[in-house]
Amino acid sequence: MKSAILSVGTELLFGQITNTNSVYLSQQLNLLGIDVMYHYTVGDNPERLAEMIHQAFTDCDLIITTGGLGPTQDDLTKEIAAEVLHDELVLHEPTLREIESFFKKVNREMTENNKKQAYIPSRAVMFHNDAGTAPGFALEENGKTIICLPGPPREMTRLFDLQVKPFLEKKSQSVIYYKQLRTFGIGESALETELQEYIDGQTDPTLATYAKEGEACLRIASKRRTLEEAKAAVEEMIEKVNKKVGQFVYSYDDENLYEVVGKKLMEHKISISSAESCTGGLFAQTLTEVPGISAVFDRGFITYSNQAKIEELGVKPETLEKFGAVSEETAVEMAEGLKKVTKSRLCISVTGIAGPDGGTEEKPVGLVYICAILDEVKVSREFRIRNTSRKWNRNYTLLCMLNIVN
Ligand code: ATP
Ligand code: MG
Repeated sequence: MKSAILSVGTELLFGQITNTNSVYLSQQLNLLGIDVMYHYTVGDNPERLAEMIHQAFTDCDLIITTGGLGPTQDDLTKEIAAEVLHDELVLHEPTLREIESFFKKVNREMTENNKKQAYIPSRAVMFHNDAGTAPGFALEENGKTIICLPGPPREMTRLFDLQVKPFLEKKSQSVIYYKQLRTFGIGESALETELQEYIDGQTDPTLATYAKEGEACLRIASKRRTLEEAKAAVEEMIEKVNKKVGQFVYSYDDENLYEVVGKKLMEHKISISSAESCTGGLFAQTLTEVPGISAVFDRGFITYSNQAKIEELGVKPETLEKFGAVSEETAVEMAEGLKKVTKSRLCISVTGIAGPDGGTEEKPVGLVYICAILDEVKVSREFRIRNTSRKWNRNYTLLCMLNIVN
C-alpha cells in the first residue's frame, strides 16, 4: 500500500508550529509496512486542499490527513474529503450527544458551530475521539481511502494507536510484528555492513538500521497472515543477527541502556554508588530516572576538584600529583575510596577530559578513565572518544559507564 500524509493548517505554513504529526504518522505507517510516498502541507484553503488530495490519489491508495476537523469556519478537511470521494456530510446523532454532554460537563455554552463537528460523511467508518470533540474517520471509494484525524497531537496519536492501526492492519489482511534492537559499541554504518546480506534483497522480514540518540539501532519487521508467523520470522532473523553482532545488542525491545542496567541491578539486588568527575552527576541522574531504583542506588558523589577527590574519596595527593586527575590510577583510587565510604557492592568512578578545551597531546579531549568494582572484582578501562563536543563526550562517557555496569 502506498500512502501520503497531508497536514492541514495555515499555522504550519507560517512556521508557528512544528509538524510533529507527520513525523509520527510516517514512523507508524512504516512500521505497518505501508510505504509513505509524500508529505504534503497545505493551509486552510479549500481549493488547494482538494487539489492536494487529487494529486496524492494519482499514485497513492491511502491519504492520512491531520487537522482542520474543528468547529471553526476555516476547518474544512471533512467537507473537502467528502466532496472528493463523492459523499455528503450527515448529522451523526451519537457524536452530537457527546459534544453536548462534553459542553455540559465543562460548563460551557455550546455554540451553533460546535454542531459542525457532529457532521460526518455518510459512508465513513468512525474513529471515536475520547480525548476531544472532533471524531476521526475513514472514507473509501474505489480502492482509495482517506483517513481524517484531528490536529492536536495528543488526540491524533491516541486515535491512531487505538483505532486507525487495527483498521489498517485489517485492511491489509496481514499483521506486522517487529522488534527494535539497540546496540552499543558499533556505529550505524558498521552495523549495516555486518548485516548487508540480510538487508539487501530481503523482503520479509525486513531489516533497517537507524540512529537514535547517537546509537545504532536495528528494526526487524515481518508482515504475515498471522501474528505467530510474523513473530517466528522475526525471531529467526534475530538469531541470525545475533550470530553477527549479538555482542553489541543490549536491548531487543527498544529500551534505553540505563533502563536495562537499572532493571538488571534491581533484579540481582546489587547496590550501587557512583563517583563522577567529568560527567558531573550525569550517571547518577540518569540511573535514578529508573522507577524503583532506590532499592539499589545508594549515593552519587560529584568530586570535580582534586580537593573533593581527596576529601570525599581518600584519593592520595601523590597519585593526583604524579599521574594527574585524569588517569587510570585516580579512577581506581576513586572507586576504591567510594567502596570504603559506601560499602555498595558495585562502585563506579569516572574521570576524564570533556573538552572542548583543556586537552594536551598526551591527554587529549575525550580521554576518559572508568573504574568499576563489583564485590572483589575490579575493572578499569581507558577510552579515547574522538570528539571535541563537550556534550557528546559527556553523554558518550555515560554510555561507556552504563555499558561497563551492564
Ligand atoms: P480542533 O478541534 O482543536 O480545532 P482540528 O482538527 O481543527 O482540531 P487544527 O485546528 O488544525 O485541528 O489544529 C489544532 C491544533 O493542533 C493546532 O493549533 C496545533 O497546535 C496542533 N496541530 C495541528 N496540526 C499539527 C501538526 N501537523 N503537527 C503538530 N501539531 C499540530
Ligand atoms: Mg481547528
